[in-house]
Amino acid sequence: MGQLHEALGELTAPRAVPILLTAPTVGQSTTPISGGAPVRISAIDSWIVSVPYTHRENSAQVNRDGVTDIIVRVATDEGLVGWGESCSGANVESVQEVLRACIPIALGRDPWIREALWHDCFRRGVWNFRESTFNFAWAGIDMALWDLCGKACGQPVYNLLGGLRRREVEYFYYLPYGAAPEVLETQCRAGVAAGYRVFYVKVGVDIAREAEAIALIRQTIGPEGRIRVDANEAWTVAEATRNLERLDAWGLDLAEQPVPADPVANMIELKGRTRVPLAANEGLWRVADAWEVITRRACDVLCFSPYWVGSLGHFHRLASVAALEGLATCKHTHGELGLAAVAGQHALLSLPHIVEGHQQTAAMMAGDILTESLPIATGPRWGVPAGPGLGVEVDEDQVAHYHEHYRRHGQFLPYTLDSMGAEDPEWPRPAR
Ligand SMILES: [Mg+2]
Repeated sequence: MGQLHEALGELTAPRAVPILLTAPTVGQSTTPISGGAPVRISAIDSWIVSVPYTHRENSAQVNRDGVTDIIVRVATDEGLVGWGESCSGANVESVQEVLRACIPIALGRDPWIREALWHDCFRRGVWNFRESTFNFAWAGIDMALWDLCGKACGQPVYNLLGGLRRREVEYFYYLPYGAAPEVLETQCRAGVAAGYRVFYVKVGVDIAREAEAIALIRQTIGPEGRIRVDANEAWTVAEATRNLERLDAWGLDLAEQPVPADPVANMIELKGRTRVPLAANEGLWRVADAWEVITRRACDVLCFSPYWVGSLGHFHRLASVAALEGLATCKHTHGELGLAAVAGQHALLSLPHIVEGHQQTAAMMAGDILTESLPIATGPRWGVPAGPGLGVEVDEDQVAHYHEHYRRHGQFLPYTLDSMGAEDPEWPRPAR
């Protein structure tokens, strides 16, 4: 890692951290991993990286050209290293600041006590007042701890999560929104040829055009392929009822968050009005939110992410409880790099009730920060990662390269200013 520090310079040099003046309140020293003195977390470093998409992602909510996330490295005094990824969303610098604020609470602690560390940061650190941003930040540290502990005991993360329930997970094909018919047709044919069975497309902007697109997708992928639509909360309950009936003429697999997630009564009412299976997505921001959606049976599928609920453990437990309620889980992403993707893969390999066609952006990334590309960069199926921990190697040169991209060009924001201001023609929108 010396090379990476050298390449990144002072911006990424480890920060001086205050010494803990009081003994930890929970999670006191545990059994040593390898005998002798207990292993301790000795350093947590992070780097913001910006990796472009091959094409812009458009929806009723976002216009985005790439992924800006935070790569997290946790090291121990024995020289063990674990890697994680904090996803960003609205503002990546705020996520990194939260991550940095957690460092003094984690330093010197046992890397196996993930839950106690989360408790101390979340409750004693008062980040429960800003839960969503904390969850995004902590998820990167949490992921690195799973990786580190897996490496320490020579076990893959899926074994730490309870072991394999399957040997393969299937991912979706993400069709571009608003593409010309010939482009959409070409994409569908390419997806079918590559073996994809689940095709996902955004809706919620122009129902007439979207109905034409759905018809073309069905005609091109054939009767067996599954069509999934995502309106990103764009419709009222009445609009969603009507629009889903219209689009279901071509057979929908499920509809993701057709109506606003708040209040949860929206989804509950729609579920009673439509025969199209519903996936909750927005609104699963926190553990308590996911719990409410599960226990009120406000959907058929939970489409959510470890970083929304703060940790791989929370994700796994909530998905397991959802299965007890008869609900399935779909792993969500709003753009992620290889570390977040592989952490999700370990969870999916070990969960009881998952859908086909999980979300991925690997196929639309222009690059990544791993030494080997993911199987889902080129096809729908991903088997069992080899090796302990997350089972992937971080390419430090690529981290440095994409950190430099961030330093030069900033964050890939979820919006473009030129897509806004339609109500004000006098507003000087910047040129693309
Ligand atoms: Mg969605």
